[in-house]
Amino acid sequence: MNVYQDLMFPMNADKSVFEGNEKFYIPPTQQIHSEIIETAGVEMFVLRLDLMHPWVNGNKWYKLKYNLLEAQEKNFSTLLTFGGAYSNHIFATAAAGKLFGFQTIGVIRGEETLPLNPTLSFAIEQGMQLVYLNRASYRQRNSTELQAELRERYGEVFIIPEGGSNLNGVRGCTEILQQAENFDVVCVACGTGTTFAGILLSLTQQQKGIAFPILKNGSFLQPEIATLLQNYFAANLPAPNKFACSWELICDYHFGGYAKVNDELLNFTQQFQQNHSVPLDYVYTAKMFYGVMDLLQQGFFSKGDRILLIHTGGLQGNLGIQ
Ligand SMILES: *Cc1c(COP(=O)(O)O)cnc(C)c1O
Repeated sequence: MNVYQDLMFPMNADKSVFEGNEKFYIPPTQQIHSEIIETAGVEMFVLRLDLMHPWVNGNKWYKLKYNLLEAQEKNFSTLLTFGGAYSNHIFATAAAGKLFGFQTIGVIRGEETLPLNPTLSFAIEQGMQLVYLNRASYRQRNSTELQAELRERYGEVFIIPEGGSNLNGVRGCTEILQQAENFDVVCVACGTGTTFAGILLSLTQQQKGIAFPILKNGSFLQPEIATLLQNYFAANLPAPNKFACSWELICDYHFGGYAKVNDELLNFTQQFQQNHSVPLDYVYTAKMFYGVMDLLQQGFFSKGDRILLIHTGGLQGNLGIQ
């Protein structure tokens, strides 16, 4: 497991918070200095959610938190969830399950491939039971029929959707900025929009949220995020700020789609890590950081803006790409 320790937890953070009995670190905010940033007349910071815990970190921890609490309240001892073979969510759920005393079952899309990749070997080491579903069945993962079948097979399991993307997930993400100072603009990489929705619920009217979808044609997320916010309000769940801040999707930095990379992105990521000691994952954060640096050069931001980039973690996924 040392490979992860080195990759994901290089820093000795000194402030800690407690979630239950477990020790998590308060995510540090790191200022980034560069000529591009100074020329644009802005200040740029990174909220390092990747440094909260060696394995249970990033937005996937925030999305799990209230799911775990609900499972605990309802006396479930087993969590069942879904993901691809390199899923950050499977990785985090396996580790969080072990940490907080749940059995875990990971339903993996596709056939088993041996030897297991680093994500799935880690999941097994954490005690997760892996089950494989062919792609057609996997597509039914949110259907009541498939979920009933899984309950029949595996007993009383608390089912968490893929990515932890439900209203509990949104709720956890309303806490991401809890320890952060005030910023004018908050930027985040976006898959389903669950994390972004939670962040929007914690911004004031004076602040702006910008999401960078990492899927192709990401504008489909516009109505989905709006619906997610509506459902959140309808469920009457707590939010630090229910006044709608302004928000925007910027869909031009997907680099061809999910997990697609090119040399430009790889070089950018290596350079960024070298210059600023911020490792980025290629699937999500690298694309958002690239996008922000590109927009800075186009004069997209206003002079004097304080911009916060959220490092949502996901570094374990890089082991699958190199
Ligand atoms: C899952 C993930 C995201 C996307 O989160 P959504 O809530 O689905 O938008 C962003 N960054 C990282 C590192 C992730 O693992």
